[in-house]
Amino acid sequence: MNAPVVVVGSGLAGLSAAWAISPADVVLVTANALGEGTASAWAQGGIAAALGADDHPGLHARDTFTAGAGAGDLDTISRITNLAPGVVRELVSIGVDFDRRVDGSFDLALEGGHGRNRIAHVGDRSGAAITAALAAHVRTLPGVHVREHTELLRLLVDDLGAVSGVEVSSARGAEVIEARRVILATGGLGALFAHTTNPLSATGRGIAIAGRVGARLDDLHLVQFHPTALDVGLDPMPLLTEALRGAGATLLADGRRFVDELRPRDVVSAAVWDQLQEGRKVSLDARGLPEVTSRFPRVAALVAQAGLSLSEDLLPVRPAVHYSMGGVTVDECSRTSVPGLWAVGEVARTGLHGANRLASNSLLEAVVTGRAAGLDATDQEQRESQLWPAVVAPADPLIIKHLDGPAGHDDQVLATVRALLTKSCGVLREGEELFAAVEQLADLTDDNAGYVGWLIARSAFLHGASIGAHRRIDDRTLAGAA
Ligand SMILES: Cc1cc2nc3c(=O)[nH]c(=O)nc-3n(C[C@H](O)[C@H](O)[C@H](O)COP(=O)(O)OP(=O)(O)OC[C@H]3O[C@@H](n4cnc5c(N)ncnc54)[C@H](O)[C@@H]3O)c2cc1C
Repeated sequence: MNAPVVVVGSGLAGLSAAWAISPADVVLVTANALGEGTASAWAQGGIAAALGADDHPGLHARDTFTAGAGAGDLDTISRITNLAPGVVRELVSIGVDFDRRVDGSFDLALEGGHGRNRIAHVGDRSGAAITAALAAHVRTLPGVHVREHTELLRLLVDDLGAVSGVEVSSARGAEVIEARRVILATGGLGALFAHTTNPLSATGRGIAIAGRVGARLDDLHLVQFHPTALDVGLDPMPLLTEALRGAGATLLADGRRFVDELRPRDVVSAAVWDQLQEGRKVSLDARGLPEVTSRFPRVAALVAQAGLSLSEDLLPVRPAVHYSMGGVTVDECSRTSVPGLWAVGEVARTGLHGANRLASNSLLEAVVTGRAAGLDATDQEQRESQLWPAVVAPADPLIIKHLDGPAGHDDQVLATVRALLTKSCGVLREGEELFAAVEQLADLTDDNAGYVGWLIARSAFLHGASIGAHRRIDDRTLAGAA
């Protein structure tokens, strides 16, 4: 039991886990340099917390539950929203310089679905600022051993199904690190879709790797679409932050407004999708916002790279896959159903988001779940306990696809998965098309991208109701209600 805890991934979730584990030994394995290649560093909006004088964690919880279509777990929502103000203050304590008002209070932004100004931010480069500060902090911590440019290939389990180590690959070649405690912090799966705002490395590898050793997975059909990805042919698509709409930018279809821009993302995405289906051009108009370029410098730079101007041009937009509500199912300590395996951040399914994530709740979730796992894994070590008191139910055996060796992903398979998921698992879905996608993807499950693609399409096929981020056009519950 003295082997170090292994944490895989160095976005906010993995870094937060390592922070909590120190000074106990932790090996932090990450595919790129520390904190790089992460969705965390791309976050523009910020981190949601009830910090305003007119706000309360209970109101944050209510907005979270409502945005999630009433499908979220109330205990999880309440636990995480209660911790949010403290999380922001702790980030300040390690040097995150959140924007302030002249009176020294946090300058809190408004985003869609929030009933109060609630988003602590660092300009429009919040994720980069928080990730850089936390990565620098973690590097200084005792007990933290960073293994950069090292990829997790697969988890190893013993005869009882408990984690016994990880197989990783780096410039040194493949090797096994023995470990009884592994924390997966490998991020999301947006890059399995052709239209995405996620880093192209976000192919759901953690979900595949955990699923292959029998971890329970839930809600993989619940994928959030961001309504305003810049549609200029780039892959991934640059994101035009929700905060632009919070600041007053409008959405136009052939020049006319068609939706309340501050409704939750599913409502705005479905409205944009409808307009595109009708053959109209949808654009975001931020031209009238005072000092828009200096208030949103990161967005202005992304737009300029595409040859457009934030202050002068209408910006073509379309919905793009942005976030995965589903993932590896965990309990309040971030324990999965596999003994010795925790999952944190976007790879995990905590129940916070229900069927749709409220804006700026995921950096918060990454920090809270990362820390919970780190503390729990360390506590396990202190108690030298062999027990695994996880409350997560076992996985459905039909979805576990074991392999003898490690699986990567093939670029051709990935291209096929992206095409199939984009066609079948978009904002609007239909049963027959989903069934066809499931059948085609079933032949590709030896490949990690193919496996996760199959899991997503299968889950989407089996869940026939319109809930959260997507609409089933063959929704029998809607037909019954009509
Ligand atoms: C453009 C954009 C803007 C966003 N804006 C916001 C926002 O304003 N507020 C908000 O709350 N959320 C926002 N989100 C969502 C949020 O950024 C993510 O949900 C969150 O950062 C996920 O953190 P994470 O630590 O779980 O994963 P990530 O930050 O993605 O980190 C994953 C880590 O795992 C590593 N990894 C993956 N697979 C392996 C492997 N096999 N071996 C080794 N390492 C591996 C990666 O290299 C990386 O280090 C945004 C997302 C995007 C894409």
